[in-house]
Amino acid sequence: METVRGNIDIEGIKAVYIHEHLKIDLSAQKKDEDARFDQSELVISEMKELVSKGIDTIVEVTNMGMGRDIEAIRYICNESGINVVVSTGFYKEPFLPTYVYSMKEEDISKILVKEIVKGIDNTNIKAGMIGEVGTGKGQMSEIEMKIMKSCALAHVETGIPIYTHTTLGTLALEQLKLLKNTGVNLQKVVIGHMDLNPSIEYLSKVADTGCFLGFDTIGKIKYQPDEYRIKAIIQLIKRGHLNQIVLSQDLTRKSHLKANGGIGYSYLVDTFIPQMLKAGISQTQIDCMLKNNPKRLFI
Ligand SMILES: [Zn+2]
Repeated sequence: METVRGNIDIEGIKAVYIHEHLKIDLSAQKKDEDARFDQSELVISEMKELVSKGIDTIVEVTNMGMGRDIEAIRYICNESGINVVVSTGFYKEPFLPTYVYSMKEEDISKILVKEIVKGIDNTNIKAGMIGEVGTGKGQMSEIEMKIMKSCALAHVETGIPIYTHTTLGTLALEQLKLLKNTGVNLQKVVIGHMDLNPSIEYLSKVADTGCFLGFDTIGKIKYQPDEYRIKAIIQLIKRGHLNQIVLSQDLTRKSHLKANGGIGYSYLVDTFIPQMLKAGISQTQIDCMLKNNPKRLFI
């Protein structure tokens, strides 16, 4: 698997956070300075801590239009020792660069394929994930549909996985339908932020398609209590979907970092894993979600 520090042996991976940001800037659209997440030195110290706690790999899903900064990611990797898989793609409205509105799907796809095959910006760092590509609330807009199809075309050409963004866990089935109709192998798709959808029945329906489900906002208890996340994981395991669950925290703001009073990247290891164990989820099952499932996604 291609990471910022070069190719790493998938078999040797210890544990993966499947959806994170190390540097991201959505401050202009959100009109909120906190969303200019650019404190690399603080991130480096948290990454060092994470590595010491057994998490050795992160999938960074910041893409074009979200303030992706490949040099900053390279710096964080080199200083902290974490492996990072980087992404290509476009996010959702209103975070899309203006040039995509007039482009054809095939041409947008070419931009993504270039970043997968040759490298991002002027580096030889190749994208290993297409994401996070998503939809807003209510319905998929025309441009979001076009971007999603472009991502599907790039996946069909390169085989690398797709990571979607859903707004509060909605429109997952619509995303899957569009991807499937464009020829995507749904076993190479992670539907993001599914832990924000309050219906376990809905999660089951999504899982029945064979895709992965991102329980990737762990610790964001303002949106969803972690007790629900654990209950939903237990239910999905009971229904035979253990092999489709992947975990992460999706930190995106300065205020999420420990030094600024936030939960920090180690919350999942320090707090959520003990809670899962207490609720009866076994260490083997946790290893499956943090290690085996991400590996399968990238093989
Ligand atoms: Zn995200």
